[in-house]
Amino acid sequence: AKRRGRNRVEAFNDELRLRTVEVKRLSDEILRGLERQEFRPFFQPQFDAETLEIVGVEALARWEHPTRGFVPPDVFLPVAESLNVVARIDEAILEQALFQTIRWEGLGLDIPRVSVNVSCQRLHDDGLVEKLRAMNIRPGSLTFELLESISFDAADDGLKRVIEEIKALGIDIEIDDFGSGHASIVSLLELSPKRLKIDRRLVQPLLESAAQQSLVQSIVDIGKVRGIETVAEGVETMEHAELLRRLGCDILQGYAFARPMASDDFLAFATARAWM
Ligand code: C2E
Ligand code: CA
Ligand code: CA
Ligand code: CA
Repeated sequence: AKRRGRNRVEAFNDELRLRTVEVKRLSDEILRGLERQEFRPFFQPQFDAETLEIVGVEALARWEHPTRGFVPPDVFLPVAESLNVVARIDEAILEQALFQTIRWEGLGLDIPRVSVNVSCQRLHDDGLVEKLRAMNIRPGSLTFELLESISFDAADDGLKRVIEEIKALGIDIEIDDFGSGHASIVSLLELSPKRLKIDRRLVQPLLESAAQQSLVQSIVDIGKVRGIETVAEGVETMEHAELLRRLGCDILQGYAFARPMASDDFLAFATARAWM
């Protein structure tokens, strides 16, 4: 038994070593990828629940790796986080997303606003507000999606001040994955977000029970009382879309309408749509 135990320990150590090597390689590749600008945004449209017009677009990071192909955020974000380079990825995505919207505009496609995901690391970046100020963003044209879990730091006055400064530049704040965690609604509402994005784990079971519906309904109602728009993510069927519209949700995003797309695909999609 002792012997078997030892073997198990060795097997565990081998696996750990393997994983460590793998993480080390991934880390090196992420740093190299950042220098080579391999991180770029894909774009997923957001629709007005009533008119089904495109009202915005979310930029989602993709890593275009020279040999591995497109690497999704779930793979590279945890490693990037431990390397402290998520802020650099966020910055690269923001810059390219703004660049693309300006390019689309030149080609006749006017997208009212673009949303980017902003990590906690980026909010703690000292030069952030100055960099944003230098970008001369048109008020209302850019949204920062902050994860619900950010509110654990909402007691952090420094963070609150940064968020106030960002808002003063005309950049909207949206709470992402709303209803997914254990954050207090009060502390989230204290940030006076422009929008709440209802987590897809609440959206997807919507057709299953009245209880699920009343949960989403209550989020929509909080929004209405406070003058905060609600966005549903992970809308996978038109049945979901129709129910969400009836519940009063303002904006819809999900595979029922479109997947995240490369810039030119998005341009083609949105241009065709504008003529419908
Ligand atoms: P998120 O911000 O909650 O983004 C929504 C995720 O759901 C995206 O996954 C999107 O592709 C996916 N999705 C969209 N519609 C549907 C649908 O109808 N059904 C289902 N099942 N999924 C749908 P993605 O692109 O893999 O991104 C995963 C997460 O990575 C994002 O979740 C966000 O938290 C993070 N992320 C993505 N880009 C960035 C970035 O530039 N910076 C930071 N800090 N985080 C990012
Ligand atoms: Ca998001
Ligand atoms: Ca989300
Ligand atoms: Ca999420």
